[in-house]
Amino acid sequence: MSELNPRTTHYEFMGPPGAFAVTFGVPFLTFGLSLACSEASGGCPNSWWDIPPNLIKAVSSLDWWFSLFDLQAFVLYLAWYAFCVVSWAILPGAWVEGSLMRNGQKKLYKINAFSTLLLVLGITGGTLWSKGPAIFTVIYDRWIGLVTASVIMSFAQAFYVYAMSFQPGKLLALGGNSGNFIYDFYIGRELNPSVGSFDIKCFNELRPGLILWAIINFAMACEQYTRLGAVTDSMILINAFQFFYVADALYNEPSVLTTMDITTDGFGFMLAIGDLAWVPFIYSLQARYLAFHPVELGPVFTSLVLALNVTGYYIFRVANAEKDDFRNGRNPKNLTFMVTARGTKLLTSGWWGRSRHPNYLGDLLMSVAWSLTTGFSTPITYFYPVYFLVLLIHRQLRDDENCYKKYGADWEKYKALVPWRIIPYVY
Ligand code: NDP
Repeated sequence: MSELNPRTTHYEFMGPPGAFAVTFGVPFLTFGLSLACSEASGGCPNSWWDIPPNLIKAVSSLDWWFSLFDLQAFVLYLAWYAFCVVSWAILPGAWVEGSLMRNGQKKLYKINAFSTLLLVLGITGGTLWSKGPAIFTVIYDRWIGLVTASVIMSFAQAFYVYAMSFQPGKLLALGGNSGNFIYDFYIGRELNPSVGSFDIKCFNELRPGLILWAIINFAMACEQYTRLGAVTDSMILINAFQFFYVADALYNEPSVLTTMDITTDGFGFMLAIGDLAWVPFIYSLQARYLAFHPVELGPVFTSLVLALNVTGYYIFRVANAEKDDFRNGRNPKNLTFMVTARGTKLLTSGWWGRSRHPNYLGDLLMSVAWSLTTGFSTPITYFYPVYFLVLLIHRQLRDDENCYKKYGADWEKYKALVPWRIIPYVY
């Protein structure tokens, strides 16, 4: 096993100090953004500089400290998580093989995330029909308690998988076996922590966080409706865009099996907090803002934002489909490719001939469209595209390094053929 699990000698994220900073920084930022842009702090500030006074105003209230741990919100969150697990277990789904691992094996994954979404849709629709929109406003009212619950769940899972990774026979992530607790806890020590056939990483990647994000957006539309007696065009747009993004990810569940998170990264605090807290509670910032700050975009601006989102989605979907088809032995467009010494082939035409991460470009365009739905009164709702740009550039650098390790000189040849990293002719 020690040959299969070599010591990690190269640190990412600036090593243990960086891992420590992100481990505490991400929950802090999740609470910070929830608070800084909230009715409790007087709305969403007009400039980044107004965030500190807004935060101080919010946390000076004793009520806020009491709302930090909210038993009802905690139970609600646990019930949601349990619902996702039970849905995974009982809903039918094909078992699909993942990528070949270093130990020569392939893991099997149950594909039923989209069925879980359909079940959620049915339950949500039925509840809306029978009880009306007001019942969903509990999510807006108990926001901070729900954020706390997701952060606790992330820490609990990260500690659990870290402890379990020391059991004999585990396949560790190449990047998460440094021997430094803080670093390995953050990066993820074990590659695929599982309980029986239940793969914790793959499950968290798509279900409890992504579907919750769509539910939160819908709850924000309900909140707006209970206040205005109507829903604005911007709220409809953000719900439609992000629901479509979530549904697309769940519908294409097998595609996640070839992503870096599944094939390369271990499951640790980084992915746990990202999947469980950051995605649902930060990515829904635009809808939450619109719940208390309605914006009407009008037909012209709506059409422009729609066009940007559709363009981004087209690039994102076609690029991901080209790679996914190719990795699964199909090449319906007869794209050109190069064969590497490792035996794996790399596409050199189509979207993967235009840049080395065309899918990131599509994702970025969509993120800008989402923020545009909130108008221009505050820069805070533009946090997502700014953060996402930083994340994707960092991710591209990490992937480049990993691919160089995998492909060596072939990767340099590929880079010469496809010189642009994300945006053709720009970066
Ligand atoms: P990619 O889907 O881009 O996968 C990178 C891998 O693809 C490489 O490691 C390599 O692996 C393979 N590859 C690289 N070049 C080629 C080529 N020319 N031909 C064939 N295979 C190639 O990266 P991610 O896993 O980072 O992203 C997956 C999706 O998730 C993206 O659409 C991204 O935008 C999205 N994403 C969204 C986030 C969010 O928060 N919304 C966060 C992060 C990602 P190998 O050769 O070993 O197969």
